[in-house]
Amino acid sequence: MAPSTRIIGVVKADAYGHGAVEVARILAAEGIGWLAVSSVEEGVALRTAGLTTRILVMAGVMAWERGAVKEFRLTPVIHSLSELREFPGIPVHLKLDTGLSRLGTSASASEIAAALDGVHLEGLLSHFASAADFSTPQSEEQIARFHAMVDALAALGVHAPLLHLSSTNGVAYPRAGAGLSLVRPGHAIYGYVSPARGHAAGSVLAVQPALSWYARIVAVKDVPAGALIGYGGSYKAERPMRLAVLAAGYADGVPHRLSNKGKVIAGGKFASIVGTVSMDLTTVDVSASPELAAGDSVTLLGAEGGLNVDAQQIAKTAGTISYNVLCGISARVKRFYVD
Ligand SMILES: *Cc1c(COP(=O)(O)O)cnc(C)c1O
Repeated sequence: MAPSTRIIGVVKADAYGHGAVEVARILAAEGIGWLAVSSVEEGVALRTAGLTTRILVMAGVMAWERGAVKEFRLTPVIHSLSELREFPGIPVHLKLDTGLSRLGTSASASEIAAALDGVHLEGLLSHFASAADFSTPQSEEQIARFHAMVDALAALGVHAPLLHLSSTNGVAYPRAGAGLSLVRPGHAIYGYVSPARGHAAGSVLAVQPALSWYARIVAVKDVPAGALIGYGGSYKAERPMRLAVLAAGYADGVPHRLSNKGKVIAGGKFASIVGTVSMDLTTVDVSASPELAAGDSVTLLGAEGGLNVDAQQIAKTAGTISYNVLCGISARVKRFYVD
C-alpha cells in the first residue's frame, strides 16, 4: 500500500474463528490504529477486553444499541440518511452502495449533503463485490462511482477525512483508485487471499495460513472387507481397513460435505474421510499408518510431514469458501496461541 494508507484489521466473527480478542491484541501491539467488527456486541467485547484502538462497527447498529456505541466509543458505519442524525457528536462513516447492492446508501450527493447537519462525518466507504475478478469491469465501475460521489460531495463542501474501499482482495489485486486512506483486510490477516479470476497479475500479498487445526484420535479399529462405515452405510470397505475415529465432527466445524470426500493428515500421510462426518466424530482410513493409536493427534487443517491442507482446499472439496471453513470452526474447539 502507499505509505500513507492505514489498516483497519477486520476481526469480526471472532476474527474468522481465530479469536477476536487475541488477534486484536496482537494487531494493537503491532501498532494498528483501527479494528473492525460486524456488530456492536463484538465491539463491546473488544473494549471490555481493554482494546483502545478505534473500532468500526460495519454491519449495522440497532436502535437499542445506540447507547452502547457512545458508551464504548465505537464508530458506526451508517447505511441510510435517516440514521445519520441518530449519532450526534459521534464520528460516523457513511457507506455508499456503489454496486454490491447490500448495505450502503444510494442517495445522491445533494441528498447526502442535506442530511449532514450536525453530523460528524469522519469517513466514506464502500465495499467491492468482485475485487478478485478481472473478467468483469464491476470493480472499476464501483471505484468510478465512489470517486464520482466523493467529488460531487466535495463540490458541495462535504469532505470526509477518511476514505476506504478495499478489503483483502482489493489490497491483494490493486486497482487504481482503490487504495485510499484506509484499507479493511480480514482474510489476509489470517493468511488467505482468494484466487483471482481473469487476467490478473498475481497477488501482491505473500501470506500464509495463521491457523492449524488438530483433532485427537479417540479409537483405532480394524474392519473387514465389506464393512459399512458410519451413518447410512455410505462407505463400504473394499478391503480390510484400519480406521481412526477422530474427536471432531460437524459440531466442531468439519463440513458435513467432506463425507466420503475430505482428507486429513494422519501420521504424516493423507488419510481419507470414510463414511459421513457425524456431529462429534469423523472416521478416516489410516491403513497406511499402523503406528497410530488412540490419543494421537491428526491434522485437519495445517501442515504435517511435508503435506498441507488449507482452508481453501477444504472449501473446494466441501463446495464452499475458505471464509466459511474458518468461521465454521466452532467455539468448542480449544484455541492455543503460539509464537
Ligand atoms: C468482512 C469485511 C471486510 C473484510 O473482508 P476480507 O475479504 O476478509 O478482507 C471488509 N469490509 C467489509 C465491509 C466487510 O464486511
